[in-house]
Amino acid sequence: MTEKNKIMVDPWGQSLVEDYTRLQKEFGMQEFDKTMFPEPNLQMRRGVNFGVQDGETIATAIKNKKPFYVLSGIMPSSEKIHLGTETVIQNIRYFQDHGAKTFVVIADVESMATRGISLEEGKKRALQFHIPAYIALGLDPAKTNFYLQSENKKVSNLAAICSQKITENEFRAIYGSVHPAKVMSAFTQMGDILYPQISEKMPGIIPVGIDQAPHIRMVRDVARRLKAEQGFFLPSALYNKYTSALDGSFKMSKSASELGKIEIPEKDLSILEKKINKTLTGGRVTREEQKAKGGEITKCIVYEYCKNHFIKEDKILQNMFEECTSGKNLCGECKAKYGVPYAKKFYEDFNKKFEEAKKIIGKIRFVD
Ligand code: SF4
Repeated sequence: MTEKNKIMVDPWGQSLVEDYTRLQKEFGMQEFDKTMFPEPNLQMRRGVNFGVQDGETIATAIKNKKPFYVLSGIMPSSEKIHLGTETVIQNIRYFQDHGAKTFVVIADVESMATRGISLEEGKKRALQFHIPAYIALGLDPAKTNFYLQSENKKVSNLAAICSQKITENEFRAIYGSVHPAKVMSAFTQMGDILYPQISEKMPGIIPVGIDQAPHIRMVRDVARRLKAEQGFFLPSALYNKYTSALDGSFKMSKSASELGKIEIPEKDLSILEKKINKTLTGGRVTREEQKAKGGEITKCIVYEYCKNHFIKEDKILQNMFEECTSGKNLCGECKAKYGVPYAKKFYEDFNKKFEEAKKIIGKIRFVD
């Protein structure tokens, strides 16, 4: 593949990905098959997950009740999370429910290196917002090992070991630059991903957005190179698609304007309603055309949000789909019947559980 045609995926920036099949090839993924894991969750069933690496290893561990882990990171750079992060949390929850030892790292070192957030501020944001939000979205705190990057000596030692196994040119080929903050963050992340294998050699799976694919590529290379001396399993990964911005253009970026994105939380439900009402639809040019041909649902971001996040009941989603594609509903009617009420329901539920989760934050167990 020529440089021109190569898809550059940037874990710290914003990438537009239209061709997931090409990405699967470029990053050596298998296409995700929803029958791969038992009792697939909503995201797996509805095509939000599109790629996987070494998923069979994890499927076998689940089936045989053998130890494995799931790990994810919280970047405490702001007191909001992308709606797309809900997919990652639901996948962590899925593996947790299926026997995984669960690790959630507070990436305070990375947040300091790449966004200039002090360690104290990162910890405060994690405790006041991120951890309660993850619990509100379904993570079981009693079964989750949380830790701070800055306080985990084993992670920093592992990062140093990993740094011996990659050349400058290899790093540049994967990330496009050798900016010191990127180097620091990438090796720390490698330490995180391999950390659970220090105390117990077991396979692990990392549910991620596609923007994290470069980290996974590099940690798998390093784990392979360290296999003989450390006995590491290559980390498995489950990839989800980007969540579109309201105008359908890019993934929901932190840099998009406040009204151009939906995040978690959305405290003011009247603003949420305005956002849903201005979200791109697959509506036809005229009412007559839509009645005759139905909406172009594959282009509709309201439907994407409902399918991937807001409508949990399959039957209701099916009704939304049929009423759109048959031309029964015009977009205004559809938003009033499905988009707005189910978005509000999602956030009301979140807000309630978030307040409850904040009350138990003093009991959270940190490991090191
Ligand atoms: Fe989207 Fe609903 Fe319009 Fe169909 S009718 S294009 S699902 S908003």
